[in-house]
Parts: sequence; C-alpha cells; structure tokens
Amino acid sequence: MPTVQHQPSGSEALLADGTTVTIRRITPADRPAVLALHADRMSDESRRLRFFGASRRAPGLAADRLCAEPRPGLCALGAWAADDLVGEADYEVLDDHPQSAELALAVADAWHHRGVGTLLLEHLVHAAHEHGVTAFEADTLAGNRAVHRVFADLGLPVHHRYGQGEIRITVPLAETDEHYRRAVDERGRAADVASLTALLHPASVAVLGASRRLGSVGQTVLRKIRDGGFTGPVWAVNPHADRVAGAVAYPDLAALPGVPDLAVLAVPAPAVPAAAEACGQAGVRALVVLTSGLDADRARQLTDSCRRYSMRLVGPNSLGIAQTAPDVRLDAEFGGVFPLRGTAGVAVQSGGVGIALLERLAWLGIGVSTFVSLGDKYDVSGNDLLQWWESDGCTDLALLHLESFGNPRAFARTARRVTRTLPVLTVDAGRSAAGRRAAASHTAAAATPTVTREALFRQAGITATRSIAELVDAAALLHAQPLPDGRGAVAVVSNAGGIGILAADACADAGLALPALLPGLTARLLALLPDGASAANPVDTTAAVEPDRLRACLDALEESGAVDALLVCLVPTALATEPAGDLLRGLVEGRARRRLPVAVVRLDQEVPVRHLRADDGTRLPAYADVRAAAVALAHARDRARWLARPNSAEADVPDRDTVAARRLVDRYLAAHPDGGWLDPTATADLLDCYRLPLTTTVWAPDEHSAVLAARGLRALGHRNSAVLKAYWPDQVHKSAAGAVRTGLGTDREVRDAYREFTAAHGSRMAGAVVQPMAAPGVELLAGVVQDEVFGPLVVLGLGGTATELLDDRAARLAPLTQADLPAMVAELRTATLLSGRPGNPPVDLPALHRVLAGLSRMATDLPQLAEADLNPVIARPDGVLCVDARIRLEPRPPFDPYLRRLRRPRTATQAP
Ligand code: ADP
Ligand code: MG
Repeated sequence: MPTVQHQPSGSEALLADGTTVTIRRITPADRPAVLALHADRMSDESRRLRFFGASRRAPGLAADRLCAEPRPGLCALGAWAADDLVGEADYEVLDDHPQSAELALAVADAWHHRGVGTLLLEHLVHAAHEHGVTAFEADTLAGNRAVHRVFADLGLPVHHRYGQGEIRITVPLAETDEHYRRAVDERGRAADVASLTALLHPASVAVLGASRRLGSVGQTVLRKIRDGGFTGPVWAVNPHADRVAGAVAYPDLAALPGVPDLAVLAVPAPAVPAAAEACGQAGVRALVVLTSGLDADRARQLTDSCRRYSMRLVGPNSLGIAQTAPDVRLDAEFGGVFPLRGTAGVAVQSGGVGIALLERLAWLGIGVSTFVSLGDKYDVSGNDLLQWWESDGCTDLALLHLESFGNPRAFARTARRVTRTLPVLTVDAGRSAAGRRAAASHTAAAATPTVTREALFRQAGITATRSIAELVDAAALLHAQPLPDGRGAVAVVSNAGGIGILAADACADAGLALPALLPGLTARLLALLPDGASAANPVDTTAAVEPDRLRACLDALEESGAVDALLVCLVPTALATEPAGDLLRGLVEGRARRRLPVAVVRLDQEVPVRHLRADDGTRLPAYADVRAAAVALAHARDRARWLARPNSAEADVPDRDTVAARRLVDRYLAAHPDGGWLDPTATADLLDCYRLPLTTTVWAPDEHSAVLAARGLRALGHRNSAVLKAYWPDQVHKSAAGAVRTGLGTDREVRDAYREFTAAHGSRMAGAVVQPMAAPGVELLAGVVQDEVFGPLVVLGLGGTATELLDDRAARLAPLTQADLPAMVAELRTATLLSGRPGNPPVDLPALHRVLAGLSRMATDLPQLAEADLNPVIARPDGVLCVDARIRLEPRPPFDPYLRRLRRPRTATQAP
C-alpha cells in the first residue's frame, strides 16, 4: 500500500459554527502539538474515554504513534484553528485485513460540539476512499456518547458489536453513497450559512479607509451605510482624520468602542494585507474588500489572514454588499443605486453588471434581499450565496452573474438542489472566444468553453440567458406569474393581426408551439369576439375588442386546456372603442383567477419590460417587444420541465470494479510518469472494469498469433469475418493510416493483411489486434474528457466518419444522473435513428445508457483519466458494441469536488 498522501499543505474548511479550521496531515514536527492536545487540552474524563483508562503514558504513546516517520497505512489528520491543534483523527490499516482500518479520534474539550470530529472524519473518509480502505473499525467505551453521536450523524451506516462496557463500531465506506453525500451537503450548507452571518447579518460595521475626500469610495460607502439606516453602529477608521462625513473617525480598530462584525476595506492596495491582519487580530468576522489591483503576494496575504482568523471575504475588487432585511438594512456598496427591499438575491462578479441589474429590477419594482458584488471572488462565491438564499427565508429569486467557477462541480450540485425551490437565473457570460479571454484576464480565474458551461447550467436547472436584458425579461415573468405546465404550447391573442403574426414567429424561434385550436373552441371564441375576429392561433380580436370580451376570450382559452401559456399583444389603435390602457386594466384585473402564465406585449411601452399591477397585488409582465416575451415564456417552460423531471440519483454501474481500475491506472502511471495512451490490452481491461462493451479484442504480437486469433474467433462462433488493426504506440487515426482491414474470412487473408501492415508500418508496429466483424448499426461516438476546472465532460454524438461532418453532440458534466441518460440521447438530432420509427425498431437504449453511465463513473472514479474516446459504438436493436476505444491517462492528484473545504483563489496559490 502506498504512503497515504493527503493534502500535504492542508486545506481549510468550516466548522458547524462557521469557524475556519485547517485540516492537514500530521507530521513528525507536530509532536509537541499532538502531545499538548492529548495531555493538556483534554480532561481526565475525555482521556479516559479516548484511551480506555487513566494511563499517564497514553498521550505520549499517542504522540509517538501519530508523529513517527510517515508509514504506509497510517493516515493522521489534524484540525488547526490558527496555530492550535484542536482535534485529531487517524486510521491505521489492520495488518490482517488491509481493507479495514482502525480509527481513532480526539477533540480538545473546548472544541466539543462544534463539528471538529465530524469534519475530520469526512476528510478521513475521503482519504480512505483514495486508498482502497473500505471500512473503519473503532473500539469505543459504551459511555462515550459524544463519539457515538459523531458516528450516528455522519450519514454512513454504522454497525455496533456490544462487549463488556465496550462497543466495537464498524463503518462500511460505501463509495458513492448518496445518503452520505446529502448529509455532507447539509452540514456544508449549515456551516456556510453560519460563517456568512457576520457578513450578511452584521451587528456592527467598520469602514477602513473612510476618507475625508467627498466622493471617495470609502466615504461614499460610509455615507450609504448611515443613510441606508443600518440598524447597528457604523464606525469610520482613518488614522489621518478626526472626523469623516460629519462623524467621529477612529485612528485604528483598537480605538473602536466595540469589535465590528464586518469591516469594509477601502484602503489602497498596499495597505490591504496589514488592514486585513489587523481586522483578524481584533476579532472581526468578515471582510468586504473594495480595493482592486492586489498583486499575487498581497492577494495571498489577504487570503491567509482571512483563513487564519476565520473571516469570510467578499472581493477584492468588489462594489460592496447590501442586505435589506428590516433588522439589518445595510447598504455597503458604492454603486449609484439604492437597493430596494425585496425578495431577489443578486450576486454579480462584475460591479457594473450589478448596477445595471439593480436598476432594471427597480423598474419592475422587484427589490433585493441580498446584493453581493463578488469582485475577484477570493472566497465568497456564487455557491455561498445560493446556500444563503436557500436558507434565509426571504429570497424567492436568485440572479447570478458569474464569469468563472471556482469549483463548478460543487456549484452544480448546490444549484441542482436550490433550483428545485427557487428560480436561479444567470447571464451566460464569456460565450465567445473573445469574451472568454476577457473573462479570464478580468477575473483571474479560468474561463470555460461554451459546451461545458451550457452543460453545467442545463444540468443544474439554471435559467441561462444571453444578456442582462434577457435575464430581466425572464425574471419579470418568473417572479410574477405561475409556471406553464411544460408543454410550451402558447396561444397568441392580439388586437392587431400583424402583431399576432410577428408574435407567432417569435414563439416559433424560441421553440414554442402555437397549436391550432379545435373547432369547438374556435366557435366559442368567435361568438365572444367582435365581428371580423379570427380565432385560429394566433387569435385576432380586432381593434374593436373591449376589456370584457378580451377577458372572456382568455378565460375560454384557459378553460380549454389547449395551451399552457398566453401571450397577449396590444396595440393602441385609432379604431379601438377603448384605449389600450383600459384593455390592460381588464386584463390585469381578471388575472387573479388564472392558472396559466400570461405575458403581455405593448408596442407603445417606453421601457423594455415592466410590471402591470392590479389592486390585489397580482402583476403581469409587459414587454415592448414580442421576441422578449417569447423568450421569457420559453425560459418559464424550461423551468417547468426541469421541475417536472425527477430528482434522480447518480447513474451508476453496480458491478463495476473500481479497485482493479485504480490498480491498473496506478500501474500504468508508475511505468509512464508523464501519462500517455493505454495499449489495446490495458484499454480493454479498463473498459471491462466499468462493463463498457468492447468487442472481443485479441492482442496478436506477430503474424502467426494473428492467424490463430482469427481462427479462435471463428471457433468461438464468430462466423463473420475478422478485422485486423495494426497497432503502434501513439497512433492517432488508424483507418487514415491504413491500419484497419475488415472482412478477413480466411487464414490466408489474415496473414496477407498482417504482411501488408508490416511492410507499410515497419518497425514502429508493435503488433495488431484481431476482432470479430461487428454487425452494422448506427455508429455513435461516446467519450469523456477532463476539463481542468469543470471535471469530466461526457459526450455522445454521431460517430464513425460522420463525427466531424455533422456536429451532432450532447454533452453533460459527470457525474451523470439517471435522468441525464435518456436526456442526452434525446438531445441528438439523430435521436430518431436511435429511438425507432415505423419499420425500424429502436436500438438497445438501456445498453446505450449503460455506456454513458460507465463513462461517467469511470471518469469520476479516476481523476487521472484525461480522455476516453469510444468511436464507433455500434448501436443495434440487439445490443451496443464498441469496436474502437482510446484512453489517455495523466498524472493528476485525486480531487473530490464534494469534500468540504474552502477554495483557494488561483491568484493566491497559482495552483488549481
Ligand atoms: P480509427 O477510428 O482509428 O480509424 P476504427 O477501429 O474505429 O479505427 O475503425 C474504423 C472504422 O472501421 C470504424 O468506424 C468502423 O466503421 C469499422 N470497424 C472497425 N472495427 C470494426 C469491427 N470490429 N467490426 C465492424 N466494423 C469495424
Ligand atoms: Mg475509431
């Protein structure tokens, strides 16, 4: 067993109460700390429970055991708060049973009930998974309630064996236990929210760098906090002034009458590290750094201080934050707008986008619960805010503007949960190559290719829009109206035929259907509407329609069940017996009774979108443009479909052999430290670990073996002819290089083909593989590629030679859920080839789904899997078979995106 390597430099994570601790491996140099933990920081009683007695030698022996030179099979992790070791957990592999490990746990008395033990165990479970340990064992005293509680709450199954006053605990470590992951998620959410309280619900605030200069950032923020009616004390800190903006200024933090929960830093960049350190020492709990232009060194010092003193950090390069809860009323930003109180959560990476969003929301009368300008996102990210809004009890709409993702897989997992309870909208920024370049330099974080981002948003149920305007349009509908049922069937009703036609086109462009109405309904509508009306879809009411008739027409459409959304287009016309304003009033007032969402288009409207309000508080979104309304309806339909989709579990391969797969990968990388392509035999073995159906592939190092192999295949009942493929390391495209010969029926043909290969490819050829000739079917490509930041992306598309010609592909980030499998297939334009037509039976879809699940599983199990390319996978009604696979491995440290730990900004460490 290799020496356990677990984050040598350590990683930071949040305890249940929001405190930051560092988790890292215990080294021989930690002996004094380990001794102090067991000897000084635990009471006699705690020691008795830990060591089953009061032996005075126990702490020393424990320190000896944990701090000896690193040895295989021992993994000891410590939790450090600043410089203090506050807890330790370790496992040591049992000699007689190398897959089980004996577990031990000790937490300083002063740190009990804060989640230290649980957090350490989570990290230990992670290490155990990486090293093939499949169960923890621990002897505990029956009276050790604290330890039993920790185990019971962990989320893993726990088995007890009762002895004389002792309990032997066994914890099987199921590899991907969704129940366990949910428990970890829930702890992560609670810890995150606890840690954000000082930031988003501070009792007191200090502004550092509050300058005397009117219009300066510091002074503006100070004034806004005061004028916004912040409910707690706000203190100005400025060593060069007695008064700022009419209030007392204090020379430093020590001079303040109290310790602020939150400090807003508006000091020059060179002063940021010292200011942050001073805040930490004073006991400040959160920082908002408005300063921009920190170099890598200052960035690192800032992050270090925040982690060391448990301060959550917004920024740097932030525009500030705002919290409108009546018991807080904090407006600590220097944008030109005053955020109204309301229920939208807004988090933006770019301050300018933030201002634009707040302004447009204000047109709609949509206020915000929380506004956060994330800036360069060294710490607090979109993920944190999603969890805050999920929990704050007052946010019902989340608007995100993200240019980069720190931990996209964790973000996707959180978003997938949050989008079940509230709409999450985003501007998909950085779609173009130029946009990505700008985003990367702008935020100093990795920008990502479009397919990957789209996959992320789609899989997480996020409403991704292409512009701020589109986002606000969608928000206007989602915030005010019920959702459609997901059919995407719209009835267009207009008082001017031409507009109705434009609206119909806009709906078609947005992927919405305008179903033809049944004769009964048409007759009913015509009876309701003025003479000259037309009641196909779009419905033309004529300009003579009055409010009552319009309302009755919409009621009839709704009752019919023919559509799941209504698009009403109104034009003020000279002919109208009523002004359009009255029509609208009629519309809005009839609204409360309706179940279907309604979007209104008013061609005379000055602003792109606004809300029409009825006396009872119902609101209707009104757009100046038919296209905007149609796109908003399409987003609502997509959200309805997302909510209707079962929240399904991860796609899995129940009988996979992860242990063998890991062994194969380790063996390959030991021999090829820089990575590379697997040879045909290793490829076949690895695919087999995930039950990926590669056709029988026999390795033939020479001509004679090839003839025997083909003969063997015939004897095995593969009556079709054989396929011979020459192999040499690093070969790319076999058929283009003339290295594939199909339809070889006899020994002679095989021999001749082999000789031709040898003649053509000479000494580089290492041998060949022999396969039976597969029956024809639909040739697909299925594969997976690792993205540096987003993790593995699973791709399915049309394969064979058509791959590049017809760029027909579906992509999803791993891990795929059960629901992703059919969704990926359905997304292909060639889906009809697969799901069958009259006379053409469908291909074996369950088998195809298993291929996708296997790829997803293989990539998530094996971070070293750089790419796997199965092309073609031949899909037929009687099964699915891959005849060509290429797999590349790369050395890569294990990374669990779901392990609870705080992100380190790339600028601070220059590492992922
Ligand atoms: P490469 O992709 O490197 O050119 P392949 O092994 O995919 O080489 O072979 C090229 C094509 O030959 C495949 O797309 C497929 O159409 C056909 N082919 C290869 N192996 C078989 C096989 N065992 N049975 C049937 N057809 C095959
Ligand atoms: Mg191929």
